[in-house]
Amino acid sequence: MIGAGQAGLSASYFLQRRGVEHVVLDANDSPGGAWLHRWPSLRMRTVHGIHELPGMPFEQPAPDERANEAIPSYFARYEQLFDLPVVRPVNVTQVVNDGALLKVETSDGVWTTRGLINATGTWRRPFWPHYPGQETFQGRQLHTADYVGPAEFAGKRVVVVGGGASATQLLMELAPFAAETRWVTRHEPVWREGPFTEDYGRWVVGMVEERVRAGLIPRSVVSVTGLALTDQTRAAIASGVLDRRPMFERVTPSGVEWASGERFDADVILWATGFRHDLDHLAPLRLRASGGGIQVDGTRVVSDPRIHLVGYGPSASTIGANRAGRSAVRELMGHLDGLTAAKQ
Ligand code: FAD
Repeated sequence: MIGAGQAGLSASYFLQRRGVEHVVLDANDSPGGAWLHRWPSLRMRTVHGIHELPGMPFEQPAPDERANEAIPSYFARYEQLFDLPVVRPVNVTQVVNDGALLKVETSDGVWTTRGLINATGTWRRPFWPHYPGQETFQGRQLHTADYVGPAEFAGKRVVVVGGGASATQLLMELAPFAAETRWVTRHEPVWREGPFTEDYGRWVVGMVEERVRAGLIPRSVVSVTGLALTDQTRAAIASGVLDRRPMFERVTPSGVEWASGERFDADVILWATGFRHDLDHLAPLRLRASGGGIQVDGTRVVSDPRIHLVGYGPSASTIGANRAGRSAVRELMGHLDGLTAAKQ
């Protein structure tokens, strides 16, 4: 297994329960997956709801607790309780074919295995789109992955780019500190009212699933659900903080410029433009379909049933990651008579 975030720990739990010998190779220095790296100002009250890992309740931390402490601490207790065989820090550099086996090359030697569950998430692959003139900008450009907290935007004129939940969350957080903000997105945001019911959740997952089954690049869940309309977002829309502007045409040394010639002088451009799945280490296996994505059926890679992707496409949420862990183990065990992972 590669990766010890929510998806990897869930899969490891089900492997452990079946008594399957395995290792979980994880690049982090300590438990927590991507949560270890979330910005310090992200508190438990602002995360969207963390689904507990299988077999161990997640006692709700105080709303003020930092997400990058509360969740890693839960993961650490979980690894310990179930004695999960996580080895870290181990960075997997590539996975190659070795006859019927797979050879997993890492910063700490080579493992061979009959089956692989990949749970490497997205955090290490922030996506930066390119706009003309971007390299000429004399202010600061950063990505969500570099965000630390709102204080560093005090008195600054800030452009936030992106139509997802991170963009709106960061804007609402930094706007009271900034001198001025602009929010730009490629598409008009769609605001979703009403509860996120189970039926609705199933429909959303189905929409994302359809794409990965066809080998297309997965869409984010927010691109299907739209943005949640809460009391906080309503207030931010009313106050103008979430007054969305269309995408600018170019970046200039002093700011951004729209096709109409309108300009905004900025000190900072914050690219809240999302992440891509961290799968480069699988490139030697040539799993990508012509649509650019990896074609999966459930979690199984269609072109190579020895490999399962969890936390990918429809399972890229804490609840989806849990379910994916269970089904990947069930299917993989059906495919192999038993898994072995032996370090060379
Ligand atoms: P991760 O948690 O990213 O774990 C992947 C692990 O793999 C990491 O430990 C990493 O070090 C390791 N790894 C990666 N590459 C390698 C390699 N080559 N070799 C070895 N190890 C490697 N979902 C929710 O349900 N609720 C929320 O409130 C929520 N908030 C979110 C907020 C933000 C800002 C973001 C970006 C996502 C959020 N999500 C949320 C989505 C959620 O974080 C993910 O779906 C889920 O936590 C991802 O779990 P994962 O196990 O797939 O990946």
